[in-house]
Amino acid sequence: MGCEEAAVAAGADALAAGRLVAFPTETVYGLGANALDAGAVGRVFAAKGRPTDHPLICHVVSAGALAPLVADVTPVAQALAAAFWPGPLTLVMPRSAAVPDAVTGGRDTVAVRVPAHPLALALLRAFGGPVAAPSANRFGRPSPTTATDVADELGEAVAVILDGGPCEIGIESTVLDLTTDPPQVLRPGRISAEQVAQVIGGPVDAEASGPARAPGMLESHYAPGARVEVVAAEQAAARATALHAEGMRVAVLAPDPVDALPQGVLVLGPVGGADDYAARLYAAFRRADAEGAGVIVAIPPPAEGIGVAVRDRLQRASAGR
Ligand code: AMP
Ligand code: MG
Repeated sequence: MGCEEAAVAAGADALAAGRLVAFPTETVYGLGANALDAGAVGRVFAAKGRPTDHPLICHVVSAGALAPLVADVTPVAQALAAAFWPGPLTLVMPRSAAVPDAVTGGRDTVAVRVPAHPLALALLRAFGGPVAAPSANRFGRPSPTTATDVADELGEAVAVILDGGPCEIGIESTVLDLTTDPPQVLRPGRISAEQVAQVIGGPVDAEASGPARAPGMLESHYAPGARVEVVAAEQAAARATALHAEGMRVAVLAPDPVDALPQGVLVLGPVGGADDYAARLYAAFRRADAEGAGVIVAIPPPAEGIGVAVRDRLQRASAGR
């Protein structure tokens, strides 16, 4: 058995024993438990310090494994699964009786996706059942995008951490509610409302950044220890300079190089286009914390493609603090 196969087998055994396994996906690292074992799912909430009314996403190995978890596999769900799975689209649907309340936070809906990562799929195949997994971070903190991040966040609470290197996308999946008409994006991600609308051949409610409509989509979330200030590109240098002059340790996160920054300002980037911005966002937050920054001055990417989701995360990281 190769090293990776042995780790996957150990992960599957741990899941079967009701223990927690962290695994890489194409979005962020997940903290997984047997979705059909309420006790194991309870351990996820305990490890994260997450309120129990915030539901978890169920990860399945293929679209074929969706049926037992939901009341009905509708033609719309089928079409979206065929178009985007494996991939970063989570579908919210009426649940079946098989799904414990612990997973859904007592709701009558369940969120499901097939992750596009070979290690995640290998784990799901070896385990042979659905795995409930939120992001593998302490509640409210930035999601982990490397195995080291997971160990730093959760360490002891996790039986096995599968290491797949840095996550390709870097921010969480698009969450789409199929129980409303039209379907509604609850959390923006790599797959846009437009892409979804094209597949279903009808309208999609894309409004995503208002007050928390999805359980777990709090106004303040994904936040580093440093305060985050979202500013327009033209104001970034002046704002960073003013904060620096007040004696703050300032970090700057921007798509393009920012001119005229004072010496001693920590430059987190330039992060380039929206895809790179997403992939590097949480690592930049963690670096700012590691370097003792008190404030991150962030210039958002344009609101196109995954830029919409990056802006949503920056907004939440900056909220209420
Ligand atoms: P995470 O934030 O990484 O822990 O992923 C879980 C997220 O999926 C939650 O915060 C919700 O936004 C979403 N979610 C999971 N289950 C449901 C559900 N039944 N209804 C609506 N949203 C859900
Ligand atoms: Mg999370």
